[in-house]
Amino acid sequence: MSTFNDFKISKQLHNAIDDLGFVTPTPIQSEAFSVVLSGKDMVGIAQTGTGKTLAYMLPILQDLSFSKEPVLRVLVLVPTRELVLQVVEEIEKFSKYLTHKVVGVYGGTNINTQKKELAEGADVIVATPGRFYDLTLSRIIQLKTVRKLVIDEVDVMLDLGFRFQLTNIFDLLPDRRQNIMFSATMTEDVDALINDFFIKPTKISIALSGTPLDNISQQAYCVPNFYTKVNLLAHLLKDKETYSKVLVFVSNKRSADRLFEALEELYGDESCVIHSNKTQNYRIRSINQFDEGKNRILVATDVMARGLDLDKITHVVNFDTPGYPENYMHRIGRTGRAEQKGASLLFYTEKEEGAKAAIETLMSYQIPLLEMPSEIEVSKRLTPQEQPEVVEINNPHKPAVLETKGASFHEKSEKNSKENLGGSYRRKIESKYKKPKTRGDKNYNKRNKRK
Ligand code: AMP
Repeated sequence: MSTFNDFKISKQLHNAIDDLGFVTPTPIQSEAFSVVLSGKDMVGIAQTGTGKTLAYMLPILQDLSFSKEPVLRVLVLVPTRELVLQVVEEIEKFSKYLTHKVVGVYGGTNINTQKKELAEGADVIVATPGRFYDLTLSRIIQLKTVRKLVIDEVDVMLDLGFRFQLTNIFDLLPDRRQNIMFSATMTEDVDALINDFFIKPTKISIALSGTPLDNISQQAYCVPNFYTKVNLLAHLLKDKETYSKVLVFVSNKRSADRLFEALEELYGDESCVIHSNKTQNYRIRSINQFDEGKNRILVATDVMARGLDLDKITHVVNFDTPGYPENYMHRIGRTGRAEQKGASLLFYTEKEEGAKAAIETLMSYQIPLLEMPSEIEVSKRLTPQEQPEVVEINNPHKPAVLETKGASFHEKSEKNSKENLGGSYRRKIESKYKKPKTRGDKNYNKRNKRK
């Protein structure tokens, strides 16, 4: 689709877009429009800056009927307060000639002021999950009229530990609703959330080029385990001239901490780390020190490193092999920017060979393999994840059934397909207020005597 005229949108929306000076829809806008309008669940893989706010808001606003009094029909959840403000501002621009009321809700401010604002009603709420959930418990917000749920930057949200709040909110929303979600990267957590709560979503991915960039050299090492990878990395980093600005990627914060600890022993304050459990100040300091060249090694998780505008990175080290091939493309794209030469190294274990093959298929390129230098000591030390599985004492042939993600997720999806009786909501209310919020709950005292 080449212009906004190809979209079937109202005059009011057209005028607002004209006022903004937008001429052509971005790729995500072109692709998402008909899907969102169809009412189907949708998952979009797109980064900030791709125009995704308009991609979901344009069809939503087109579909949002006029209402004399504000009636909450659209809920947009985002991970941070800054994003709430930004998204509210954008939506207000798009709905300049419409009468819908948009309200932003976020933590860290006076909840009573927000309650007052919400008491006057809203058609669209943009919120961070924690504060939004608190407000729903105080019954200020009625959710039964919500028809569209948008979750933006879901990868960041899950990385910040919001899964619990999100699922609580899902529990309160009407079953008959459209779910729309955006994530910059695919992670296991994101995948799990989609499988649990989305119904056959249409996936839209802004085609990430699978062609390796010519100016990035790629090489791979087959390494037996985590601590041998540490030894190999430490060995390579001895060459300070070649490895002068190295971004090391790991897939989760546990590995990030483990690796950083090991590097700190060897390279002291030459290294720094960022992941979502670090405070904002700590992260900013690390990024600045790395960018200014005070630290030459930065360990980062995929989610946290995205959006960083770092210059002149000599090497990207894939300390583990991303399970989603697109993440590899994102990672290596951090080096070799602006016509400079860059280099990428991939460390993979035998277990990660499948993931490496998927990356190579995406790129139609076989990453050249390097021999591990003979002086690298093969470590016998294993991380808890690398330890052999626990086996039941009485049954040595059957691995112990640990409480795996799979089991509870399965349960969730089943539950999700049933009618939602609001059980978790009631329990939450009870535990929060120590008394039932439903009048006439005769069994309340009985239940509590028994406790
Ligand atoms: P977003 O990815 O939603 O954060 O949008 C990134 C920026 O692109 C925002 O400043 C939007 O106002 C702008 N933008 C969105 N859609 C378009 C478009 N079709 N043409 C030009 N700019 C756009």
